[in-house]
Amino acid sequence: MRSLTSIQIRLVLSHMVVAFVSVFLMSTFAGSAILNAARNEFQLTLENLAISANNSLVDPMRSYYFGQQDDERLEEVLRKLSDIYPNLRYSLFYRDGSPMYDSDDLLTGNPDFPSEEIAQALTTRSGQGSSVRDDELGVENLFVAKRIEQNDEVFGVLRISYPLQEALAPTRPLIIVLLAVSAVVTLSVTAFAWFLAANISRPIQQLTEASSQIASGDLDARVSPSGPRDLRRLAEVFNNMASRLQTHVNELRSFAANASHELRTPLTIIKLRIEALLSGALNDSMVATRFLEEVEGEIDRLSRLVSDMLDLSRMDAGLTTDTHTRINLGTLVDEVIETFNIRAENAGVSIVKHIAVPLPSIEGNEDQLIRVLNNLFDNALRYSPKGGKMTVNLKPGRYGATVRLEVIDDGPGIPADHIPHIFERFYRAEATRPRSVSVKSSSGSGLGLALAKSIVDMHGGEIGVISEYGRGSTFWVELPAD
Ligand code: ADP
Repeated sequence: MRSLTSIQIRLVLSHMVVAFVSVFLMSTFAGSAILNAARNEFQLTLENLAISANNSLVDPMRSYYFGQQDDERLEEVLRKLSDIYPNLRYSLFYRDGSPMYDSDDLLTGNPDFPSEEIAQALTTRSGQGSSVRDDELGVENLFVAKRIEQNDEVFGVLRISYPLQEALAPTRPLIIVLLAVSAVVTLSVTAFAWFLAANISRPIQQLTEASSQIASGDLDARVSPSGPRDLRRLAEVFNNMASRLQTHVNELRSFAANASHELRTPLTIIKLRIEALLSGALNDSMVATRFLEEVEGEIDRLSRLVSDMLDLSRMDAGLTTDTHTRINLGTLVDEVIETFNIRAENAGVSIVKHIAVPLPSIEGNEDQLIRVLNNLFDNALRYSPKGGKMTVNLKPGRYGATVRLEVIDDGPGIPADHIPHIFERFYRAEATRPRSVSVKSSSGSGLGLALAKSIVDMHGGEIGVISEYGRGSTFWVELPAD
């Protein structure tokens, strides 16, 4: 059972109360209007009857008044009256209000003498009176009285009466219809409120359930947009938020899984080498030196990995406080290339650079941009074959609004199906590459390009690659010019 505080019950109750009160007031008003109209109409009928009977009663009553009882005439007139409306009760009264004749033989020296309508008929100018009250049998009656007079001479009063309930009986079907319509209106409003409330509360319930599912870790929970437009929009936004949360959590999970995998490999190698050294390899200085160099290499790799991971998570959390300065990218590229010269020479790779002058300066963080350059140059050298060439182009980009850097190598290139992934964290194309394509074994962790992309994104720039498998690669970066 839903609690009274639920939206649905509240909406239904409020609609019901409003519908009931308004329908009750309206039907009470309409009902009493109908009854009043029926009563007035019936009273008018009795009055007209009394007026028309009055004329024929003047003569016999005058005879009575003057002591000449003319029972026959009087009875004839009264019989005629009864013939027209046999259910009415007719009574005659003397001019002092005392009872004279009653068609139902009920007049027994009334204690309320003279009764209200008789008193009115005898005293008012119109000579008419009416009242609604119980008769001698305790039945509520409508009494209509009319003074019998001629030339200002009063001879008595004629009174006609009829039970009120029976007089109003023709209105009964109308009242029943009125009550039925009221009930139908109240029920319809309640049913409408029920559907309306369900239409609002169902999507809210779904959203609540989906939210608690997500809170308890079920990130697949979604809602189907339904109900009013605002709630449909809310459901769409909710689904969108849930999807983004799910993607984010999945990324974090795979990041954690990849990170532990990447950390485990060098640690295993280090442990194996140290075990070998401890179990005798130390005695062979050639082998010992090789093992220690390997250990050093793995430790370098570990510390690079850890510092890359730290940088990435700092950037994700928006924790980079490094300040931006105005930078001449040409000078920066020159300086970084300088540091690669010896390595390129050793690898038998030539470096060619084309730096356009003048170049717009850019706003950025020098250390971070150096990391991007290092990574791109390092990759180009690493993947270039002996005797190969690395070309670095730096020029104004689109409409002079950007500065474009291109790092071109004639290495193995990147297969088309890997290109969309190489900027992802821990992604290494060579993991799936055939062995015939030679790459140097000291390949990195797969974080370099991800880090470069995060840095370029933070600078409001773009990074991408144009490559064809077997035909070298062109990595490009466009940064907004100052
Ligand atoms: P890594 O440290 O493994 O090089 P990166 O993020 O720098 O990681 O690069 C991701 C992957 O992209 C590499 O493993 C490699 O497969 C591919 N890649 C990057 N640069 C080049 C390049 N110049 N030529 C061919 N493949 C490249």
